[in-house]
Amino acid sequence: MLDVTRVDLSRHTTLRLGGPPGSLSTATHQDEIVQMVRAATEPILVLAGGSNIVVADEGIPGTVVLLRSMGVSVQRDRDGDVLVTVEAGQPWDDVVALAVAEGLAGIECLSGIPGSAGATPIQNVGAYGQEVAETIAAVRVFDRSANAARDMAPTECRFAYRTSLFRHNDRYVVLAVTFRLKPAALSPPLRYSELARALDVDPGARAPLAEVRTAVLSLRGRKGMVLDPVDPDTYSVGSFFTNPVLDGAGFAALRARAAEVTGVDPAAWPAEDGSVKVSAAWLIERAGFGKGYTGGHRGVAVSGKHTLALTNRGTGTTVALLALAREIRDGVRKVFDVDLHPEPVFVGCAL
Ligand SMILES: Cc1cc2nc3c(=O)[nH]c(=O)nc-3n(C[C@H](O)[C@H](O)[C@H](O)COP(=O)(O)OP(=O)(O)OC[C@H]3O[C@@H](n4cnc5c(N)ncnc54)[C@H](O)[C@@H]3O)c2cc1C
Repeated sequence: MLDVTRVDLSRHTTLRLGGPPGSLSTATHQDEIVQMVRAATEPILVLAGGSNIVVADEGIPGTVVLLRSMGVSVQRDRDGDVLVTVEAGQPWDDVVALAVAEGLAGIECLSGIPGSAGATPIQNVGAYGQEVAETIAAVRVFDRSANAARDMAPTECRFAYRTSLFRHNDRYVVLAVTFRLKPAALSPPLRYSELARALDVDPGARAPLAEVRTAVLSLRGRKGMVLDPVDPDTYSVGSFFTNPVLDGAGFAALRARAAEVTGVDPAAWPAEDGSVKVSAAWLIERAGFGKGYTGGHRGVAVSGKHTLALTNRGTGTTVALLALAREIRDGVRKVFDVDLHPEPVFVGCAL
């Protein structure tokens, strides 16, 4: 279906920012996605929920293929696991809600994340101690170089913290994703202490799936991390920066600097390989950019609920948002000598 009206992409992004594309086509099933991608004028942008993307105010050339393919199929595997295959355009939270309702464990901590199922492999979506790489069994892609569709095994996808083979790579269009879930009343051991506390259990304990989902939605809601059409604190891309991962020496240097500047240790999570993931929200806040900070940039602000989310207050522009993001990135570097890296994808603009 060809949409001939030139609409601003602000209608299709959770930031509510972005000008018009050259053209926009809406695909509602796999064959249509392939057909539209093959026929598209370069450059092509595959867009789904628009919840992890920053688009230039003046718009972008080329074709936007808007994914609206829906459908979920469920199959029991020989070993008792359940394989849930989801079309790329299906909203992700529908999948989590369905899994929890059907007593299928493995994605309950990922409740309330905006966007589509097909985008979850792109940055290996994660939250509250789970990430999709742990449950993805296969990713069906249209490989534009080979001009053919095929299934990719998880090892081929090169999943890592907030990234994969698919990120910043327009060779592959995800058509569908298959998740391997376990029939279980309880979640896998809870890794995230804030979530365990909310459920009144010890970290490492298990909890009923529905209770985990409710607790995650409530925690996320308080941080403005669940979309709410009347709350500008949610007109964002979620976390604007990823949590920096430092090696042992880098973290020791940061601790020394943090002791000097703040008198306390940075919020951080050590990994088994000796690296340490540092809370970007902690760095931003302690560098002087608290909740609600605007820096005088018009119409944009740090969320009033979470320092890691940069928001459009309704009258912002991409130019203003990027200026605020640059100020924060440069401020954190100046105070703590740590580089923050952006999480969203930038189209027609750069940080
Ligand atoms: C309030 C809020 C909270 C959030 N919380 C989290 C969180 O807790 N954890 C987390 O990981 N993320 C979070 N995010 C970010 C975002 O929700 C996820 O990255 C989500 O997976 C993006 O899905 P989307 O459909 O909106 O992708 P889009 O924004 O439409 O696209 C993002 C990128 O993926 C590409 N893409 C999308 N679909 C496909 C496809 N089928 N094939 C190929 N490329 C594709 C696009 O071209 C673009 O480069 C949050 C965002 C918001 C607004």
